[in-house]
Amino acid sequence: MSTVTDREGVARLTRVARPTESSGLMPPPRPALKRERPGAALPPQTGVARLTPKAPAIEQAAKAFRQVMGRFATGVTVITTIERDTVHGMTANGFLSVSLRPPLVLVSLGRCKMNEMLPRSGRYGISVLSQAQQHFAAHFAAQKRSPVEPTFTWQNGLPLLEGAIAHLVCRVVDVHRAGDHVLWIGEVEYIDHRDDEPLLFYTGRFGTMREISDRAQAEQTRSSQHVDRR
Ligand SMILES: Cc1cc2nc3c(=O)[nH]c(=O)nc-3n(C[C@H](O)[C@H](O)[C@H](O)COP(=O)(O)OP(=O)(O)OC[C@H]3O[C@@H](n4cnc5c(N)ncnc54)[C@H](O)[C@@H]3O)c2cc1C
Repeated sequence: MSTVTDREGVARLTRVARPTESSGLMPPPRPALKRERPGAALPPQTGVARLTPKAPAIEQAAKAFRQVMGRFATGVTVITTIERDTVHGMTANGFLSVSLRPPLVLVSLGRCKMNEMLPRSGRYGISVLSQAQQHFAAHFAAQKRSPVEPTFTWQNGLPLLEGAIAHLVCRVVDVHRAGDHVLWIGEVEYIDHRDDEPLLFYTGRFGTMREISDRAQAEQTRSSQHVDRR
């Protein structure tokens, strides 16, 4: 039986996935996107976005929403791009797989520098962080400077964070504004992975699977004791 290397796997994935304009499933690439102002290709903001002025009730609802969504444990990625000679990275957990054939993913970005660069670069990389890369998660979220300089490995002309457990390189094929975020749909051009423990994000904190599970159990115990005492 022949073994399939990551590289062969990528080649197969890409062959099956190559979208055709006649398939009707994928829009043709938008070459204009590269030269347009950020967001120029996007439809006007929805009513949701226009409601954002900081009325206390809206802020409270947003806080409750964040608390609920924080119960959805995720991995952590660093999204990267290059524009001219500038390499830029940012931490994101608003990342998901969208389609298998063709292989599509999505990143959801709020107000950030990356949102300004992607219309011009037209491509992005995703590095899925290992539990040993928490310092990079904080660094690329502009929270705390990493004691170690990040190093990048290059694939298909895009920088990817070295030491990540999975890498993807994507070409932007569709963009949608959604409330106060922009959804960047990318066709996957390259993938690789290795086995290691992932970094997770849950209720606003980083951790390993074990740490997060222990914290959730401790919280549950605390809240049931609180209910008992009432
Ligand atoms: C767990 C988590 C998940 C998040 N998920 C999302 C999400 O899904 N969507 C979203 O919009 N926001 C998300 N954020 C917030 C987001 O990471 C920050 O708002 C981030 O600062 C936005 O980056 P920016 O593009 O504006 O660039 P900046 O804030 O300017 O840069 C980010 C940081 O990366 C450093 N950096 C950038 N490029 C390099 C480089 N080449 N070499 C070394 N350092 C570099 C910068 O010095 C800076 O410290 C998340 C934050 C966290 C902690």
